Amino acid sequence: MASRIDKLDYVILDQQLSRSFHDQLEQTLKPLEQRFSIFSLFKPEFRLLLNGYIYLHSLARDASSLGQKIYNLKTVSKLSASNGIMSKLQLYILGTSTVLIPYIRERFSRSKLLNNKLAYFLEDAFKIGELLNFLIFLQKGCYPHLMYRLLFLDCDLIEGKKRISLDSYYVNRNLMWTSISEILSYLIQIVDFNRIGLIIRQKVISKLTPSNLSSEKNRESRDYRICAICDEWPNNPHHIGCKHIFCYFCIHSDYMQYGGSAYSCPQCGHKISDVSHIKQLYMSWT
Ligand SMILES: [Zn+2]
Ligand SMILES: [Zn+2]
Repeated sequence: MASRIDKLDYVILDQQLSRSFHDQLEQTLKPLEQRFSIFSLFKPEFRLLLNGYIYLHSLARDASSLGQKIYNLKTVSKLSASNGIMSKLQLYILGTSTVLIPYIRERFSRSKLLNNKLAYFLEDAFKIGELLNFLIFLQKGCYPHLMYRLLFLDCDLIEGKKRISLDSYYVNRNLMWTSISEILSYLIQIVDFNRIGLIIRQKVISKLTPSNLSSEKNRESRDYRICAICDEWPNNPHHIGCKHIFCYFCIHSDYMQYGGSAYSCPQCGHKISDVSHIKQLYMSWT
């Protein structure tokens, strides 16, 4: 018999897992939406696919939701003739209520189909039903969802598996991982990835390209159009003796941040010994 706490835990875990999957989906779609507006039009369909995939690979296949699996639980039918196995009808109704109905609600939220009194009434009634069901669940310890109660489904331990024990070993391990991840996230903020990339680029690329290629004489017309630090059109163009051009602000702030006496061009590694080598670029239009 699965305990009340396990059932409560799996319900919360299911909610959190689903939220983090949807956050991931949102992050993935964001750059695509900016380029192709079609992606934002079909957002509800992407959510439907994700929910459907999760449902097919958890409840429909193994009779356990993702949260239930972690707590060694599975969904069982309480109907007397079923031997604990969910019938196809129960699975279909459960799938419709967890995958299809949220999709219809999202897709047609602005249409007249769902903007009527009956739809609002049904939604409110379901919410009140969920609340009542939760209060009864706290007292009796079975049917953690309203849908489970309506379909005569409950959950139980998977045969041969034990209840996950939350002893001091687990708590310690959790504490350790949390502190390690905190230290790492703190360290990552300190590391200057731009600078590391720059040093690698200087070490590798400057060895590969002969130095005469990056000299002032080899400046091509596109070099005049791009600041070698911010990749934008150079604002008040300056140079340091190599073929690269910089904005006044970019080169001076880069010099102050990283340079001093050993400053080198972030693209080709051309070294300068002091600030007097940063010169304004004069161009003649004749
Ligand atoms: Zn710039
Ligand atoms: Zn350069």
